[in-house]
Amino acid sequence: MSRKIRLGISRCLLGEKVRYDGNHKHDGYIVKTLGRFFKFVPVCPEVAIGLGVPRPPIRLIGNPDKPRAAVVDDPGLDVTGKLTRYGRRTARELGDISGYIFKSGSPSCGVARVKVYGANNRRSRRGSGVYARAFMAENPLLPVEEEDRLGDPVLRENFIERVWVYHRWQRLTASGLTPAKLAAFHVDHETLIMAHGIEHLRALERLGRSRHPAFRDTRASLRFVTGVDERGLKTTADAYIRLLMATLKRRATRPRHTKVLMHFMGHLNQYLSPVEKRQVLKIINAYRLGRAPLAKPVAILNRKLQHYRDPYITRQVYLNPYPPELKLRHYI
Ligand code: SF4
Repeated sequence: MSRKIRLGISRCLLGEKVRYDGNHKHDGYIVKTLGRFFKFVPVCPEVAIGLGVPRPPIRLIGNPDKPRAAVVDDPGLDVTGKLTRYGRRTARELGDISGYIFKSGSPSCGVARVKVYGANNRRSRRGSGVYARAFMAENPLLPVEEEDRLGDPVLRENFIERVWVYHRWQRLTASGLTPAKLAAFHVDHETLIMAHGIEHLRALERLGRSRHPAFRDTRASLRFVTGVDERGLKTTADAYIRLLMATLKRRATRPRHTKVLMHFMGHLNQYLSPVEKRQVLKIINAYRLGRAPLAKPVAILNRKLQHYRDPYITRQVYLNPYPPELKLRHYI
């Protein structure tokens, strides 16, 4: 069995009693469903910096853009430095994780919209937890999400998709990057990227074309590997993955998915009988109109592909971006 993908996670979400009040924040979906597919790496920064359980609660104070973390009843007890250093160190130590699920609203772990207390106890919800902020700054490409946002089917699907793409990228770079491998990675993900906006797909291709011969002609590049300039490749690959991860954060809407499905139809046209075409188009249209989930047209395309193995479509990650057992496309 292949090794499970590793995800960092706020420890309290796994049901561990590490919160300031000695409680936990067990999340059933994360533990029972995601736990079947991921290996969690639990971290509680407040315990790790020695605050203990139970402990006096902390909160964010000061400037919402750069808040400090201090004990509620004793603002002189400032733990910002310790949490920041621990966040940086942990990000470096957990270099092999492919994503991170943070506890929302926490002055240490929250990614965004964390309460910050200003003068006269005035509150704003513009803060990020100190540990999470330092962690993300050290590892800006890593897909991150908060547990409460995973309740939204679109955000959930988006996060899991990013985790799997990033994991594939980590495997690719670990295996030794070459121009051909980079170009192949791009072709594999073309339609997936298209679902987040065709202009982003073009931007990624322009980026490659302008910087490295691997992208001069994406398809043709699969057949060549000569005269590699290692430094040029590294620069291109760094810029590529930065732009790709930013692109994938953009919501894949129903109209964009419909465009991708019709793109597949364009390729399959040559193989399908008129009856089969009508059948597939009917399901795509039902999805377009919101009468069927995305899982339906994708399933029928996958079934057709078992008979007509078009080489370009078969390799598209879009059709199987993560294990179908997660059923993420049943709800979008
Ligand atoms: S939110 Fe973070 S710091 Fe707070 S208990 Fe959970 S893991 Fe620990």
